[in-house]
Amino acid sequence: MLLLDQKTGPDGSRSASSADSGIHAGDPLAASLHAQLGERPPEEVLQIVKPESGLRCIIAIDSTARGAALGGCRLLPYGSDQEALRDALRLARAMSMKNALADLPFGGGQAVICRPAGDFDRSELFSAFGRTVASVGGCYVATADAGTTALDMLAVQRQTTYVSAMPRHRAGEHSSMTAFGVFIAIEEGLQRMRRRLRGATVAVQGLGAAGMDLCERLQDSGARLLVADVDPARAREAAARFDARIVEPDRILAEPCDVLAPCALGDVLDAASVATVRAAIVCGTAANQLADPQAGDALHARGVLYLPDYLVNVGGTISVARAYLGQVSAAEVVREVALIGQRVNELLERSGSSAPVRAADDWAREKLATAIGHDPAFAGAGVPASR
Ligand code: NAD
Repeated sequence: MLLLDQKTGPDGSRSASSADSGIHAGDPLAASLHAQLGERPPEEVLQIVKPESGLRCIIAIDSTARGAALGGCRLLPYGSDQEALRDALRLARAMSMKNALADLPFGGGQAVICRPAGDFDRSELFSAFGRTVASVGGCYVATADAGTTALDMLAVQRQTTYVSAMPRHRAGEHSSMTAFGVFIAIEEGLQRMRRRLRGATVAVQGLGAAGMDLCERLQDSGARLLVADVDPARAREAAARFDARIVEPDRILAEPCDVLAPCALGDVLDAASVATVRAAIVCGTAANQLADPQAGDALHARGVLYLPDYLVNVGGTISVARAYLGQVSAAEVVREVALIGQRVNELLERSGSSAPVRAADDWAREKLATAIGHDPAFAGAGVPASR
């Protein structure tokens, strides 16, 4: 477990992480790492506190076996360092699995910034974060995530090239690709059950950037929509745009439907909520939908097909990764995202009668284990030649 050692970046530079910024192995936060992540600890976890800018963040580098650790940067009002750490570790792990299954030349990582209380200088906060990302020497590549915007990533980009930033007017593209990938997975799942999307009922929880785009694609294909959001204005907007029926947020998971699409928060599927699910398929954009692996087993035992989030919600990451590498056109990104359908098929072949999420875990672990590992030539694959 680890966290204090200097690290060689993909570009050969050294991380400036110091004993002051690391989480020490006897520290209560570090002590909880093994408990939270089980079989394999993350490669590196940094806790950074910069009082002059109000920056308090954690960067979790789960794996660089396949390349630089690409992952989101969240800005949320975490209740405690423990809560922030748990989020960072689980999301970083999910990014490793997601990037590996999508055959992207990246490892997995995640940054979480604790939102300062009261007013704060946003540009200064993200400049400080950018300097921190620069100090990690290319081991971590940041992208926007919950609570952060395209503008924030541009502030990061002024300090480091290890960020995938895009102009504000194009900021919706990644979310749209995420929704597209989930849409493809839903179609594939229904097809395997010999059902059609036209006329199917889909319950969508969360009507933000990804959920709203998914609703549009589903309605265009003839699905009937049930929608819920804690923000009543969003629910009303979806109802008006997609002829959808509004459901109370605390009821949506239990609605009878063909497909339940969690597109709001993580941890929504636990022992209690799984027992109420009345969908044939669960497939949505939200990261870390299962509160624990047993929730996936319980869905399987109830005959519900759960398509793992990290397999199906990679569309935005593919878009971010290709934009960062500057390699392919928008049409090629769409083609790459559409491959999610084939992966769903392959997963269902692999899983046989066992829970698909267990088979997906094994599949991702296989890909991580057979990666060339810390060969700098391979790790460097996550860094564009021009950088
Ligand atoms: P967003 O912040 O734009 O939207 C989230 C929506 O969920 C908001 O409208 C919010 O009001 C609503 N919400 C929050 N709590 C809720 C609850 N209890 N019940 C119902 N609605 C609730 O976020 P987003 O970008 O659309 O992402 C949604 C989810 O998908 C997140 O978990 C995110 O991590 C995941 N994800 C998104 C992308 C992407 O490209 N946007 C990529 C991968 C994963």
